[in-house]
Amino acid sequence: MQILNTVSQVREFKNSLISNSVGFVPTMGALHDGHMALVQAAKENNEHVIVSIFVNPKQFGANEDLTTYPRTLDEDLAFLEKLGVDAVFTPSAHEFYPNGFSTSISMQGPALGLESDYRPDFFSGVCIVVAKLLCTVMPNRAYFGEKDYQQLCVVAQMVRDLNLPIYIISCPTVRKTSGLALSSRNVYLSDEDFAHAPTLYATLKDCARKIASGKHAVEVLHHGKSNLKHHKFAVDYLELRHSITLAPVDLSLPITTACRLLVAAKLGTTRLIDNIAVNPILK
Ligand code: AMP
Repeated sequence: MQILNTVSQVREFKNSLISNSVGFVPTMGALHDGHMALVQAAKENNEHVIVSIFVNPKQFGANEDLTTYPRTLDEDLAFLEKLGVDAVFTPSAHEFYPNGFSTSISMQGPALGLESDYRPDFFSGVCIVVAKLLCTVMPNRAYFGEKDYQQLCVVAQMVRDLNLPIYIISCPTVRKTSGLALSSRNVYLSDEDFAHAPTLYATLKDCARKIASGKHAVEVLHHGKSNLKHHKFAVDYLELRHSITLAPVDLSLPITTACRLLVAAKLGTTRLIDNIAVNPILK
């Protein structure tokens, strides 16, 4: 497995490949079985797999966890080597954003609301890093988790808007048997938080089932939020959106199209996000 630290090393590595069938998995490291599922999907459909590990400073707000974000590079590299990855790109912040770096990307559409209401610079940080990574690696396919559903929609929209010749492949969320979605940030949860955390997905499942079977969405979401509060969550949002555009849904009308229910809530100091498909049962 090659370790690549610079953009020119990535380009050289790409040029050395006989096949140009390359799958790419961008990550921030502290790898777990959710990342592993993306790598395995990439291995199944491409001759070569490149993974990036880069804790992107541009997607962290001033009061967020950039300095404390878990960094486990040695373990991550051993994990990726075992999975049979061809190369890992781990640029420094200075390599990726040298002095004088001046470009930013701002998006409307799927980037509006939800995470943007609580992390105003998040998606411009995500867009610039993903755009730069995709332009550096130039894979055929890039793999993203449904765990970060709004991010997935934002990246897919950006790639369409910029005509990048790359397929964006989405992979289902990997969960613990309790239902809790795996996340690098789960290490922040205290024992008590851990006991409450599975309620997030349980509540999503319950709300999704009720909305899909025709119950009034406003009431369902109201009860869902109350249940989360009862289990010690401070809810940022629990919102139903159209599943591709992420446009708001008119909750006063019966829900008849495929939607996504998205949630963000804090348990203690740890902010968790999750989401679920809502596919109405048409009568
Ligand atoms: P991160 O390292 O948290 O930036 O995530 C890198 C990629 O892994 C993103 O596309 C995430 O959506 C994806 N990912 C993170 N957690 C999971 C999970 N539990 N299941 C599936 N994909 C995940």
